[in-house]
Amino acid sequence: MDAWILDESPGTYRFGTIDTPEPSADEVRVRVVASALNHMDIWVTKGMPKPHTPHVPGADGAGVIDAIGAQVDSVAVGDEVIVNPAVSCRRCAACLAGDSPYCKQFGILGEHRWGTHAEFVVVPAANVVPRPPTLDWPEAAAFGLCWLTAWRMLRRARLTAGETMLVVGVGGGVSMAGLVLGVASGATVIATSRDEAKRARALELGAAAVFDSNDDWPVQVDVVFENVGAATWKKSLKALKSGGRLVTCGGTAGSNVEISLPRLFFKQHELIGSTMGSYAEFDQVLQLVARGVPVPVDDVFDGLGGLPDALKRLEAGQQTGKIVLRH
Ligand SMILES: [Zn+2]
Repeated sequence: MDAWILDESPGTYRFGTIDTPEPSADEVRVRVVASALNHMDIWVTKGMPKPHTPHVPGADGAGVIDAIGAQVDSVAVGDEVIVNPAVSCRRCAACLAGDSPYCKQFGILGEHRWGTHAEFVVVPAANVVPRPPTLDWPEAAAFGLCWLTAWRMLRRARLTAGETMLVVGVGGGVSMAGLVLGVASGATVIATSRDEAKRARALELGAAAVFDSNDDWPVQVDVVFENVGAATWKKSLKALKSGGRLVTCGGTAGSNVEISLPRLFFKQHELIGSTMGSYAEFDQVLQLVARGVPVPVDDVFDGLGGLPDALKRLEAGQQTGKIVLRH
């Protein structure tokens, strides 16, 4: 099959052919119609983390079932599906309890196994869901990783309707998903960005107010939604009201932060970590986007060959939505 291939990590992608993967008994093979970019596509080329090589990148995608394993009866060849990028063993105690992100074998498509920037991708049958007719191919391919991650963050932070939430650094895919899912949950969402165009986009997507990330944020909120880290940490904690919860899935601008214990306990704050999401959470987020929670798409590049240009756009950081390859 045609694919983007990483022969070593750190390294650079080359476009070439590689053996088409065969589905095992409980897996399916999807002919990818569209795949979406994530920063992970860049990180794996820098050895953060180092994937097994040769590696095929791409966490997000949607397409048509091309082949099924002997035990698969949930989908058939020709079905249009969306790929859930969060793969676990589906048999251990954590998985059976619905907590697959705690599974010891938990992995992400395009990081721990071959991904979607290829003609075909093989995943467990449990990792495909029917494409809702309300989502076009780029939208169907775009929401997986970011919307799943953001949705679990909102659930772990116990965000409820009527609460206020601050989304810090709303340019990235996860924070944009946090904004639209927070609005859909009935919360009042406030967003920050250093970029004026991104602040304007946040207002269009339902933010009640926006601030420049470099300015002071004169707010007191129930939940702070973070993945910036060190650069915004102090201001993020300052924006939490008593009893507030800060939920984080990353530290793109610095991973080491300071915590003042008196502030933590006097204000009775909670700091919550979160990563990816469970099968149930993927289904929940699918229902939400199928019913109209927006999946903003910044740009669609024609052909699998568009990956280098698409990666340049991602690295420039000027996008106001997901970047998609239409294969
Ligand atoms: Zn498991």
